[in-house]
Amino acid sequence: MAKVNLEREPMPRQDPRSRGKNFAEVALGYRPEQAKAEASRCLQCPKRPCVGGCPVGIDIPDFIEALRNDDMPEALRILKNKNSLPGICGRVCPQETQCEAVCVLAKKEAPVAIGRLERYVADWERANQQSVDSSPAPSEPSGKRVAVVGSGPAGLAVAADLAKLGHGVTLFEALHVAGGVLMYGIPEFRLPKAIVQAEVNYVTSLGVELKLDSVIGKIDTVDELLNDGYDAVFLATGAGLPMFLNIPGENLNGIYSANEFLTRVNLMEAYRFPEYDTPVKVGKRVAVIGGGNVAMDSARCALRLGAEEVYIIYRRSEAEMPARREEVENAKEEGIQFRLLTNPKQFLGNEQDWVVGMECYQMELAEPDESGRRRPVIKPGSEFVIDVDVVIVALGTTPNPLIAATTEGLETTRQGTVVADEAAGKTVKPKVWAGGDIVTGAATVISAMGAGKRAAASIDAYLKELA
Ligand SMILES: Cc1cc2nc3c(=O)[nH]c(=O)nc-3n(C[C@H](O)[C@H](O)[C@H](O)COP(=O)(O)OP(=O)(O)OC[C@H]3O[C@@H](n4cnc5c(N)ncnc54)[C@H](O)[C@@H]3O)c2cc1C
Repeated sequence: MAKVNLEREPMPRQDPRSRGKNFAEVALGYRPEQAKAEASRCLQCPKRPCVGGCPVGIDIPDFIEALRNDDMPEALRILKNKNSLPGICGRVCPQETQCEAVCVLAKKEAPVAIGRLERYVADWERANQQSVDSSPAPSEPSGKRVAVVGSGPAGLAVAADLAKLGHGVTLFEALHVAGGVLMYGIPEFRLPKAIVQAEVNYVTSLGVELKLDSVIGKIDTVDELLNDGYDAVFLATGAGLPMFLNIPGENLNGIYSANEFLTRVNLMEAYRFPEYDTPVKVGKRVAVIGGGNVAMDSARCALRLGAEEVYIIYRRSEAEMPARREEVENAKEEGIQFRLLTNPKQFLGNEQDWVVGMECYQMELAEPDESGRRRPVIKPGSEFVIDVDVVIVALGTTPNPLIAATTEGLETTRQGTVVADEAAGKTVKPKVWAGGDIVTGAATVISAMGAGKRAAASIDAYLKELA
């Protein structure tokens, strides 16, 4: 057997000294010789644990083998058979805890860089759009209609699968662009908008009708959609309602939720300054509260918009941070300062009610809590003040209550998530399925897509019974 290179091919990236001043993509993608070298590391092992580690079940060894054999159309076909959004997943999926975590090579050395290879194949398609047709052969129209509410990864996944199966799909989106968090949350330097738009276009090319600026619960309710002739409804409205600390001073000017800040930067295009003049105050010193991907994205956007010092304020240690390791490293390289084991007690304002400081506690870690992570506790008498001009609160999100409030017969939890069975996404309300962050609370792109795919199979089975 040929000897396996234990080192994975490094991802070419923009220099950290310059990239903190621009919004261009940080990771630049493999060159062809790198992609082939990385593909050659795959052992093609018979048990294929990586396939089970992928929430949408991509035939990973097969697409890697096709890539290695220079058969790019085949690699693309295999990928798209299970995943309609490979350019997105190749960039933002936490492969390190999914397919790559169970790669046989991971037991001893670096696992195959599956996500980077997925991205390589998806980018090859974009570069060769004229010559490749990756659309599946159209199925016979079933005559059945499904309304999908929300066009994030869950909605796009269910819409694509149902359209491929011949069902008529209308995708309702509240905003003026499709893509959900992929468009309004994740910044350009991690996930370029053109990639998201290209993959949304692929979904509409399958025959999905996209209705933008359509807030379900305002223009039409779920019951009205069902009365209007839709045979089933899939709810994929995500978890876009920010949580706050509820401490004194939180209403001061200059304190944003990460949602608002990132929406101004991404959707309202503050990142395209000076071409766009979107109001977004940044100031010299910015504190971002939280330790997840949303906190890292907010901090790195603030830096790129001109902040001189950006702090991540996190109440546990780095080991407990939920953000992807790669993004924590990227943030550190760019000069983001990590103030760990630190938790705000109150915000301090000036006479004009603008935030100027943050009184914090020093924390220490006790026994693990129900999340399995060590519980942070206050060190008595440890209060200290950090001077800040802007604060961004990135503590997590819950679902917007509009759908639950306007839909009779849906069951919801105390956290506001919609109850749906995990295997199929079926809610307790007849003809209504749900999946993604609206069911799980804030999670990941691929788990939302996996939920969409499982629901598509269940909806398809239901529609066939109706026929
Ligand atoms: C800043 C940020 C960074 C992240 N980084 C990562 C990452 O690196 N990797 C990763 O895997 N995950 C990441 N996530 C999480 C991931 O993006 C989400 O888990 C995923 O997008 C959830 O998909 P969804 O389809 O359930 O919902 P969303 O993506 O939230 O999409 C919901 C859509 O529904 C629309 N909508 C809401 N209400 C209505 C209504 N009443 N009528 C019509 N439309 C409506 C919304 O406008 C939105 O477009 C990140 C999240 C954020 C916020």
